[in-house]
Amino acid sequence: MKNLLKLKHLYKLKEAGVEYFEGFHSKDSDIKMPKELDELKKICINCTLCDLSKTRTNVVFGEGNPNAKLMFIGEGPGAEEDKTGKPFVGRAGKLLTKIILNVLNLTREDVYIANIVKCRPPNNRVPTIEEAETCKVYLLKQIDIINPKILVCLGKTAFMYLMNNDLPISKVRGQIFDYKEKKVIPTFHPSFLLRNPSAKKDAYKDFLLIKSLL
Ligand code: URA
Repeated sequence: MKNLLKLKHLYKLKEAGVEYFEGFHSKDSDIKMPKELDELKKICINCTLCDLSKTRTNVVFGEGNPNAKLMFIGEGPGAEEDKTGKPFVGRAGKLLTKIILNVLNLTREDVYIANIVKCRPPNNRVPTIEEAETCKVYLLKQIDIINPKILVCLGKTAFMYLMNNDLPISKVRGQIFDYKEKKVIPTFHPSFLLRNPSAKKDAYKDFLLIKSLL
């Protein structure tokens, strides 16, 4: 908790115009966090470390099986998620739920679903690097606690902020990357699939790959 306060002060100093050295990043392991998901959630739902906290209705911590082998990471809550406090419950979420069920033969309760940022960015804009880096402390701890075998990044933003890699999603989708002994598989975001149904066949291939690795 002390370290979280330090992080908050660093961001306050930054807001006040103080420049600190380039290499500053909220590195996961630098910050002591609880070892239990419930404890982490308690801290997270009271978080005011970035400006997204000012406009949120609910913090969307994430949900699912705390021992899941498969974890999905989206970009950030939308309107429906902000209203309910649950990840991927809007139109894109319904599609994701259908894919999990029909392609992976799993339910939402079998997997874990979280996002890069846990508060809704106004007008669903892409989270800024400061917002993502601040919130990533929680996500990385969630990943550590849940310890899934496979992480699926839904869309470019999730992949970019998790892996520090800003290649287009069309270039990286369906490939296998490594993150701390876990496999990371980027695929299209379900919102993209809703807007571009012709991409569904590639997404289907990605999900078959995920299934084969489970
Ligand atoms: N899009 C996301 O990236 N995450 C959600 O939780 C909902 C929509």
